[in-house]
Amino acid sequence: MSMPTPPHSLDRFLSPAHRALWEAVDDFATQEIQPRVERMEGAPHRVDRKIARLLADRRWFGVTVPEAFGGMEAGHVAKTILIHRLARVSGAVAAILQASLIPVAGLLYYGTDEQHTALLGSVADGSVLMSIAVTEPDQGGHIGGMTTAAEWDGRSWVLTGVKAHVGNSHIADLHVVVARTASAGTRTSRALTAFLVRGDQRGVDRVPYSGKLGLHGFSYGQISFDRVRVSPNDVLGDVGQGFEVAQSSSILYGRPNLTAVSLGLHETAVALTARYVSERPRYKGKLADLSVIQDRLGGMSARLLMARILAYHAVDMLDRGLPCDDELLAAKGLGHDLASETGDDAMRLHAANGLDEDFAIERIWRDMQTTYAPAGTGEVQRRRLAENLLQQEEASTRTPWSVLHAGRSQPPIVDQPVGV
Ligand SMILES: Cc1cc2nc3c(=O)[nH]c(=O)nc-3n(C[C@H](O)[C@H](O)[C@H](O)COP(=O)(O)OP(=O)(O)OC[C@H]3O[C@@H](n4cnc5c(N)ncnc54)[C@H](O)[C@@H]3O)c2cc1C
Repeated sequence: MSMPTPPHSLDRFLSPAHRALWEAVDDFATQEIQPRVERMEGAPHRVDRKIARLLADRRWFGVTVPEAFGGMEAGHVAKTILIHRLARVSGAVAAILQASLIPVAGLLYYGTDEQHTALLGSVADGSVLMSIAVTEPDQGGHIGGMTTAAEWDGRSWVLTGVKAHVGNSHIADLHVVVARTASAGTRTSRALTAFLVRGDQRGVDRVPYSGKLGLHGFSYGQISFDRVRVSPNDVLGDVGQGFEVAQSSSILYGRPNLTAVSLGLHETAVALTARYVSERPRYKGKLADLSVIQDRLGGMSARLLMARILAYHAVDMLDRGLPCDDELLAAKGLGHDLASETGDDAMRLHAANGLDEDFAIERIWRDMQTTYAPAGTGEVQRRRLAENLLQQEEASTRTPWSVLHAGRSQPPIVDQPVGV
């Protein structure tokens, strides 16, 4: 029996508008993306710009941008549908979309009216593609250790440093760069500032792109900044608020975006494996007839069901303005872990053929490895969950991120979801 699309387990989260979007993105993925996957895979060093144009034509970079600026104003469940359904067909294409959506959060939440007016229209129509540049080669996920610095020279900020693994590094037009602006000893929560830096500014240099293990066609590379002058008008948020800009983008957009990429890859791993074992002959029947194979398949199916509900439950809460920091953390961390366990099982069931690039599971498994690090590794997600559980550090007094920004450029879904 073929699974209804979308599956009934998501009925409570989806409005008629969500269902229409689901169908539209599936059609797009089949017609426009599927035929390009092989070419993208064959050229790991190549940075694909055409795909971003195709996504922009549909205005999907504006999924959370208010209608007043030409956006879809469709919220987080809609964003998850876009990324999840694209990732089913291509993790790289889903990554191109999701990586540019993360900094949109920073612009929406912390941008001034002037910055909104100047930029949101171009973000919504995809003519300005954004990136967020926080990670550094030596400091990795330790934001407080960053060495990229911006100094005020009396007229402008002068920014110098190197950022690593920046999603869409080689196609983005506008980078949200987080840099140190305070002297040593200042708390991280006050020491950093976010800047809007154009890719064509003097001193901005993209380090030649080298292919990675997965996500061929998507660039996540290094950008260097050598005495780049930034006007005070291009400070995003207040001076000293950069940690908050980075955190809110990562927590409220990054986590659910990466959850959606994991989910799409997870679904495809299950579907490919079910088909493979159903077609592969063994004894007088197929591999799928063996109970030990069915045991593994059953585990894969259960994990997928869990990951799917976790993913949509978290973003549905976010759309409703409910406190859901823990749900976002768990969905990101467990979403990857569950998908990864399924990916390993899928590879085992494909055995030698799983290592062959003619079998799509090889690409899916590689792409799955790329959802662990961004927007917080598993260790980071679990540590934050533990802090919240133990009410440690500032967790006991802090307003949840999901509540802090609720209603701020986050419109509710217009259509009443089915079944709620
Ligand atoms: C596909 C992809 C896209 C990305 N996109 C972006 C982007 O758009 N912008 C951007 O700025 N960055 C981006 N990143 C970078 C990503 O945010 C970092 O990889 C992440 O922050 C971790 O840094 P790291 O990989 O250097 O690992 P490290 O921080 O060096 O960590 C190494 C290991 O130590 C663990 N560890 C480190 N610190 C702690 C701690 N305090 N407690 C417990 N365990 C710890 C980690 O969990 C990990 O297992 C991207 C990465 C990938 C793979």
